Amino acid sequence: MTNPEIAIPSRAPSTEAADDTILPFAVKALDLRGRIVRLGDTVDTILNSHDYPLPVAKLLGEAIVLTVMLGSALKFEGRFILQTQSDGPVRMLVVDFTGPGTVRACARFNAERVAAAIAAGEATPGKLLGHGHLAMTIDQGPDMSRYQGLVPLEGGDLEQAAHEYFTRSEQIPTRVRLAVAEEYRAGDAGGRRRWRAGGIMVQFLPNSLERQRQADIHPGDAPPGTAAHVVPEDEAWVEGRSLIATVDDIELIDPDLSSERLAYRLFHERGVRVFRAAAVQAQCSCSRAGVENMLRSFPQADRDDMVEDGRITVTCEFCSSTYVFQPEEVATNA
Ligand SMILES: [Zn+2]
Repeated sequence: MTNPEIAIPSRAPSTEAADDTILPFAVKALDLRGRIVRLGDTVDTILNSHDYPLPVAKLLGEAIVLTVMLGSALKFEGRFILQTQSDGPVRMLVVDFTGPGTVRACARFNAERVAAAIAAGEATPGKLLGHGHLAMTIDQGPDMSRYQGLVPLEGGDLEQAAHEYFTRSEQIPTRVRLAVAEEYRAGDAGGRRRWRAGGIMVQFLPNSLERQRQADIHPGDAPPGTAAHVVPEDEAWVEGRSLIATVDDIELIDPDLSSERLAYRLFHERGVRVFRAAAVQAQCSCSRAGVENMLRSFPQADRDDMVEDGRITVTCEFCSSTYVFQPEEVATNA
């Protein structure tokens, strides 16, 4: 294990922008910690392996940024899974992050309802998701207990859901910004669009107990109807979240703006310290052997139902890889 706390000498922010990276940072003067995620090939590979309508792809891109940001903060090499289930046109998003840095993702949606939402000019993230919940699951392996946090989706977007989660479940003041866009480059073959995405998260994590109490604005386990004990927000946190509110989408996805320069742009007056950046890439965990085992676990009657033109074809929902088997290859009593 490398120690992420190793001090880096004071220097000017790197001007070299690197895609598919996660840059942790800290602003000691404000008791803030945060991360900047910048995705190029990773989000492009995932979204291009699907043929989703544009607003669905964009929404899934936001979920990918959020998942990479949260999953990469965990100090173990397990899995972090973000999943929505809701009653909107997009009924499910699944993003699966495996430490230290691979991610895959897919969406399930009702094509007619998505088309209707686009036609009505209502294909916003909140309208596409509708009402339901967002679940975040931490899976540290077969011998470890799974942890799941749930937050309701109530017509808002993923940023709002993340804020709600950290307020309710973790009681850590948190702000998240997510951005996804398509980039056109004249030189690309056929002028193909490329997806880019980025995000920033800051959390207020004061060391002193006095300030931690101030940070706790949750009424706790008080019975319903009890007036919340209102504590004024800490000035440092007000400053931190105000700075994050100034970030434009373009700053999060601009291929020429390095994550270090963005951190510097926001926090240079207070002094910002960056830690070693981590890498992330799109990678699916499916395999022919895995699909074969799954097919063998089905009853024969179910496998018989899957035969088309004398073959069984299975397409991975995450990466769209297709696996073709002869029925006798996966028969259990052959
Ligand atoms: Zn796959």
